[in-house]
Amino acid sequence: MLTRRQFLQKSALALAASFAGPFLLRPPAAAAGAFIPVPVYHRVGDGSDDLTIADSRFAADLRFLADNGYLTLTVASLKQHLLAGRPLPENAIFLTFDDGYLDNYAAAFPLLKTYGMTATFFIITGRLGQPGRMTASQLMEMSAAGMGIGSHTVSHRPLATLAKWENVVEMERSKACLEDLLGKEVGAVAYPYGSYNDATLAAARDAGYWAGFTVRRGYADTGGDPLALSRIPVFRNGRRLAGCL
Ligand SMILES: [Zn+2]
Repeated sequence: MLTRRQFLQKSALALAASFAGPFLLRPPAAAAGAFIPVPVYHRVGDGSDDLTIADSRFAADLRFLADNGYLTLTVASLKQHLLAGRPLPENAIFLTFDDGYLDNYAAAFPLLKTYGMTATFFIITGRLGQPGRMTASQLMEMSAAGMGIGSHTVSHRPLATLAKWENVVEMERSKACLEDLLGKEVGAVAYPYGSYNDATLAAARDAGYWAGFTVRRGYADTGGDPLALSRIPVFRNGRRLAGCL
């Protein structure tokens, strides 16, 4: 049985989904705190591929968020909301980066510090320290500075194509690797390519993750399945973040 609040939230989501265009409807005030924007970035720098945005554009996104009163959530505050129902501040946003590229440390991290904001970085543990990727010591430095670190699995294969036991290995080994490195709990995972199925969700839950992120486009419905949260992909040739919120 849905409460009135849940009904309003579900209705808002259905309404938003019925608009098939690139626009996202901002949820009504009645649902504030239950739907949060979770942008997903990949790379910040000079590259010309669609996954890379310029430093200046990332800085402009952060300036927009600061000017409009957005508050970047830490992993801890998101966990308290998802597990304990603690209300989120108005204009909460959860910034994420996938794939663990070196420019996340070199370009995005300094800008986040400048603006007093946090983001969560989803790391492919099998590529940690490889050329072009962040190193263990860089992750430790970012974690100590208040940035969130999450799992993006060991091998970055599409999880829905893998056997059940492989889903278990991807979830457990990446989590253990990052927790050993950081000395703190890692409870959030992002599914590579947004690929997941029931075996993935079961493996994530059994491994102890409390949040799972897809690349399904939309606001994250924190009243829904916490292991299948929507995000807002940010691409070089896509809409500016300001136009998606
Ligand atoms: Zn990825």
